[in-house]
Amino acid sequence: MADEGRDEGHSEGHSEGHSAVGADGGVRAGIVATGSELLTGRVTDRNGPWVAEQLGELGVEVSHLVLVGDRGEDMAAALRFLADDGVDLVVTTGGLGPTADDLTAEVVAAETDRPLELDEHMEKIVGDIIAKFADRLRWDADALAAANRKQAMVPRGATPIRPAGTAPGLAVPPHPERGGPTVLVLPGPPREVRAMWDEALASEPLRAVLARTAPYTETHLRLFGVPESEIAATLRDVGEHTDLAPLEITTCLRDFTLEVDLRHAPASTPAASARDAVVSEIERRHGRAVFSRTGQTIDELLFDLLDGQVVATAESCTGGLLAGRLTAPAGASAHVAGGVVSYSNDAKADLLGVPRELIEAHGAVSPQVAEAMADGALARFGATIAVSITGVAGPGGGTEAKPVGYVCFCVRTSDGRTLARDPVLPGERGDIRERSVVLAMHLLRRVLTGRGEPAPV
Ligand code: ATP
Repeated sequence: MADEGRDEGHSEGHSEGHSAVGADGGVRAGIVATGSELLTGRVTDRNGPWVAEQLGELGVEVSHLVLVGDRGEDMAAALRFLADDGVDLVVTTGGLGPTADDLTAEVVAAETDRPLELDEHMEKIVGDIIAKFADRLRWDADALAAANRKQAMVPRGATPIRPAGTAPGLAVPPHPERGGPTVLVLPGPPREVRAMWDEALASEPLRAVLARTAPYTETHLRLFGVPESEIAATLRDVGEHTDLAPLEITTCLRDFTLEVDLRHAPASTPAASARDAVVSEIERRHGRAVFSRTGQTIDELLFDLLDGQVVATAESCTGGLLAGRLTAPAGASAHVAGGVVSYSNDAKADLLGVPRELIEAHGAVSPQVAEAMADGALARFGATIAVSITGVAGPGGGTEAKPVGYVCFCVRTSDGRTLARDPVLPGERGDIRERSVVLAMHLLRRVLTGRGEPAPV
């Protein structure tokens, strides 16, 4: 099997390799998430990535995600930047509330040359909603009417979108003479953004811009145990004899898994042949590391593979993280029997039946003890498959023979198959523990897909 410990030196979440897809003239969008709290780091932006994902699924290429504070000039600058960049669609979130510092509607109206006008229908809708909050907010009647009116102001020619909270959204068509982007204005609370999304898409201005998209054809490869640099080299080599320009290639290391996503316009023959060239070369060079061709995660894949099995875990240095991961999906009880966190030697001996002499002879972190832990879990839980992890997570406790990062794994099945590994994993304590969990899941996968070796006699 590929050496799963080998992807050292790659930082989590790192992403590279965006080649242009806009060449086919598809719809490009920019997102502006507003809120000073997003800039101080107090609140993490949960709207931008979500909107980007929705747009991506619709075949829209998101070129920029801009975070701006609550200052009107900053918001206007962001809108101008995106308009100058030539995006077809801008989605803003935040700053739509009733108070004076909620400026988005005003700024968008000014930037699109569309004076704000009172939408009486919306005034009534917002009025009814606000009336329900009025007592709690202790606003007097004048303040209430002003708040109500402010939220019902709509740029001329724009379509209001019914609020999920108190603030209506706005779908603003391009300027009739100057052109420019369609602007979709949504409130800040992530729940409201999600609740209003479908109605926003159904509005006339959004329908008009989205009519020009064609969902991309996508291929999602997932690899484990191959460094990003090797994929980069493979892509470079393919690029020597194949034009990769019509293809968008994104590589991203997430959860110690290398994600390679290929997207292209559906009707493009050159793109399809570029995609085939990339996929076949990755398969040829790194086929053993490819575990998913559909974008399925290792968790999803294992969930399916464990159907009909009974799995048990025996963990030392990962302290139950693997059991946590296996039991995260709803329905895990159909195949997870349980796990033992045998952190101490006594726990290994008492709870899993690991012979004390084995621990004394080889040490708690040893292939022998890992195997005995897996046997113990198999027997104690009456499982059909068990996996064990014992290692030196550090920062202390390493020796020359067993340095920090040395982790022993063993997968055992009730029909006598075994798969054992004892790599030295890179990283800090947290990394080593997380990486061990992912590696153990891949070892389980390998055995469940028939790649376990017969038990040694
Ligand atoms: P309202 O004032 O009606 O709640 P609004 O459009 O004015 O709506 P904001 O005031 O900008 O929204 O934000 C309201 C709440 O939503 C705040 O708690 C804010 O932290 C949160 N929020 C806003 N934008 C984001 C974002 N991009 N990601 C996560 N939370 C956000």
